[in-house]
Amino acid sequence: MRYSGLRVLKEALTGHKGWKPAWRDVAPQAHYDYIVIGGGGHGLATAYYLARNHGAKRVAVLEKGWIGGGNVGRNTTIVRSNYLLDGNEPFYEHSLKLWEGLEQDINYNAMISQRGILNLVHSDAQRDAFTRRGNAMILNGADADLLSTETIQKRYPFLNVNNARFPIKGGLAQYRGGTVRHDAVAWGYARAADQLGVDIIQNCEVTGFRIEGGKCLGVETNRGYIKGDKVASCVAGSSGRLMAKASMRLPIESHVLQAFVSEGLKPVLPGVITFGAGHFYCSQSDKGGLVFGGDLDGYNSYAQRGNLPVVEDVCEGAMAIFPMLGRVRLLRMWGGIMDMSMDGSPIIDHTHIESLYFNGGWCYGGFKATPASGWCYAHLLATDTPHEFATAFRFDRFAKGQMIDEKGMGNNPQLH
Ligand SMILES: Cc1cc2nc3c(=O)[nH]c(=O)nc-3n(C[C@H](O)[C@H](O)[C@H](O)COP(=O)(O)OP(=O)(O)OC[C@H]3O[C@@H](n4cnc5c(N)ncnc54)[C@H](O)[C@@H]3O)c2cc1C
Repeated sequence: MRYSGLRVLKEALTGHKGWKPAWRDVAPQAHYDYIVIGGGGHGLATAYYLARNHGAKRVAVLEKGWIGGGNVGRNTTIVRSNYLLDGNEPFYEHSLKLWEGLEQDINYNAMISQRGILNLVHSDAQRDAFTRRGNAMILNGADADLLSTETIQKRYPFLNVNNARFPIKGGLAQYRGGTVRHDAVAWGYARAADQLGVDIIQNCEVTGFRIEGGKCLGVETNRGYIKGDKVASCVAGSSGRLMAKASMRLPIESHVLQAFVSEGLKPVLPGVITFGAGHFYCSQSDKGGLVFGGDLDGYNSYAQRGNLPVVEDVCEGAMAIFPMLGRVRLLRMWGGIMDMSMDGSPIIDHTHIESLYFNGGWCYGGFKATPASGWCYAHLLATDTPHEFATAFRFDRFAKGQMIDEKGMGNNPQLH
């Protein structure tokens, strides 16, 4: 069934009786060409592009919980391609271009809104760094605009530009950045993949790998053994736990990151705004709630909930930059498990075990990467060669010292 305005009208007039489930509820088959572990955004996008771009026929996505229950449905929905380094920027720009055509491609309203993102600058050194980043973006075909304090004050009159501690000295804007309704991305990719024949199997947890003679033959699950010619791990925050079952230790730590939503307000924020002197980012959802977040909780965890000190820290960031928010009430908050890599950049690579592949280490930025991650991972799985935009995302970069350390923080995963 294709979704369209006419279909909505027809269903509205006929009591909404014609809608079908968005994807089939299937039992696992004994054997697949490709098994993708993890039904988050990346796993579903991988399965979709395997079928769409490479004509793959027997593809399964195994999800231990429900579609949308992981980080794909827990993030603060920001998409952008404002990166500095060569290993990253072409990849994220490819992703942003895919976002721009995604709704037509998968025939699903993901509420993609290019309302722009503004990174605020609070010191001269930061302005230099952001200018450099803006230039790198433009050289890679992305859009970037360096704004003066005066322009910012005119466009965003609610910002406290003369704050004594954190004066706003300018900003780097990317107008093509913005927000996308996160769980619609999961549902949209799941539906589109299903229509191309992909089996999406929920409540199916991978509990082990069957590895013989250095080759992965399939996966053990709570619903029995499933043979797979190629097995692709794509479980984001659970990467360390899953790959330990293949006796692999990853250059990744799992941490909690929280997100917050305020009560609904009239439109106040015209786009995404990030605070440059602390860690605080905020946008306003179409329902009116302010959606915001900040730093990790700061300890290793596999829990999808956080603690109160970070709530205070994030709200302090909000007050430093948006004093007008002082009386806004917090409506809800939640946590997600972040796969923090040692240099802040992801891995899309084959492992040392034949037929076993890995995608993870997305840190704060995996939602915006969803389309390109699926695109490039599907390319790797189908052709056994890395996609041109993901050649730097290899395991061996840590051994070779070729880190993609966007922030220059060194191997301190909780700082990326
Ligand atoms: C609070 C928060 C805010 C964020 N904000 C942003 C943002 O604004 N912009 C941005 O770009 N990124 C953001 N991110 C990061 C982004 O959400 C993630 O990097 C990205 O969603 C991870 O990829 P995924 O969607 O595939 O992960 P997930 O949705 O977590 O998918 C992984 C899936 O694997 C499943 N799984 C785990 N173990 C197994 C197993 N053994 N067997 C089968 N299935 C298994 C899980 O149940 C899960 O559904 C944020 C993250 C959080 C938590």
